[in-house]
Amino acid sequence: MKKILILGGGFAGVEAAIRLRKYNFDVTLISERDFMYIYPLSIWIPTGALDFKDAALPLNKLSAVHKFNSITDSAVKISPKEKKVICKNGSYGFDYLVIAVGAGKAKPEGIENTYSICGAPEESLKIKEKLAELVKTGKGKIAVGIGGNPKDPSAMRGGPAFEELFNIDNLLRDKGLRHNFELNIFAPMETPGLRLGDKVYKLLNRFYENLKINKYFGKKIKRFEKGAVVFEDDSRLESDLIIFVPAGSAHEIFAGSELPLTEAGFIKTDDYLKVEGMEDIYAIGDSASLDGPPFRGKQGHVAEMMAGIAAHNINEKEAGTNNYKGYKEHVHILCVMDNGKAAVYVKRDANKETVIVLPVIGHLLKRFWGWYYKNSKLNRFPRIPGF
Ligand SMILES: Cc1cc2nc3c(=O)[nH]c(=O)nc-3n(C[C@H](O)[C@H](O)[C@H](O)COP(=O)(O)OP(=O)(O)OC[C@H]3O[C@@H](n4cnc5c(N)ncnc54)[C@H](O)[C@@H]3O)c2cc1C
Repeated sequence: MKKILILGGGFAGVEAAIRLRKYNFDVTLISERDFMYIYPLSIWIPTGALDFKDAALPLNKLSAVHKFNSITDSAVKISPKEKKVICKNGSYGFDYLVIAVGAGKAKPEGIENTYSICGAPEESLKIKEKLAELVKTGKGKIAVGIGGNPKDPSAMRGGPAFEELFNIDNLLRDKGLRHNFELNIFAPMETPGLRLGDKVYKLLNRFYENLKINKYFGKKIKRFEKGAVVFEDDSRLESDLIIFVPAGSAHEIFAGSELPLTEAGFIKTDDYLKVEGMEDIYAIGDSASLDGPPFRGKQGHVAEMMAGIAAHNINEKEAGTNNYKGYKEHVHILCVMDNGKAAVYVKRDANKETVIVLPVIGHLLKRFWGWYYKNSKLNRFPRIPGF
């Protein structure tokens, strides 16, 4: 039985492990943490609408259900020629390697003065603490921002920033404190959210206006300071709490690993997700370069789709049937943008832009998705195709 090593236990790595086990390979998944963190659910942790544990899916439970080996360790170097991965606590060989360690984060000067919902999971709890302090004081200034990667627009992530901002607005309204708080959104690009389509972009602008959220768009971030965002023209946005969603960039283990990288730092693959110039190594999810329509973005459902396709292609290769599938034609945008009470369903592909505002039911739909995701992965609920 061929040995497949998967690096990373996020959307991409977990789905790859499940699919490859179904093809009956000997699968080992190495992840630096012992749980899968379901980022789309984490937007509710800072406002107290979700417990941290409910955004986490233990990898030992997944490995027991799907019968793959799960190792908690941190990869530090990939040696493609020797077919070896060196981790902090050991090194591992493979017949095939699937790289799914996510992306690194761009780090503007002073980033330590910000909090992120996109990095270490535990940071969501620090935001929760800081937000609770402000609520206790009864007033404050909060800024939520999005970073860009000029070398790859697909690495920018606006959705979580919009959701966190609207969820905070909702919390403050519920507490009757909104009038005492200044809420701001900042981004270096002129039109953040436009990638989701014209309709969503207009809707977002209507939300800012109706909710009295101030916009600071099209201003490059020079640095962050304690209590302020400083823009390139030296203007300042004073803030008691800065939540920043940095753009994705090269993961630190890619440097010096002889992997072909795009200018922005993602692993170059072909349409079959095979790393360029390497026979037995695949890259999927946020780690991989993303091709497709101009509005493409790195998302969880894209990571899962890539995992399914990479697993299929490995199986085809081993079977000698070579009926490979490509991923690019399947890339599209799909999200349910939530504010804590309602949500907007967004789907955008090459032909169509669908936007549906869903009061109450939209929020419940996203909550249901979280429950469904965990339970279907643990085989406690059947998988619904396309959900
Ligand atoms: C707050 C937030 C909300 C989001 N909401 C949505 C949404 O609503 N819909 C949507 O489609 N997408 C959403 N996304 C995007 C989605 O979460 C990502 O695209 C997805 O997580 C990518 O999956 P991945 O497996 O490639 O990477 P990750 O989820 O980042 O997983 C990477 C894994 O690799 C492990 N790892 C990292 N480094 C190492 C190492 N050196 N050694 C071993 N293991 C390592 C990590 O522990 C982790 O298990 C959201 C993202 C964020 C941050």
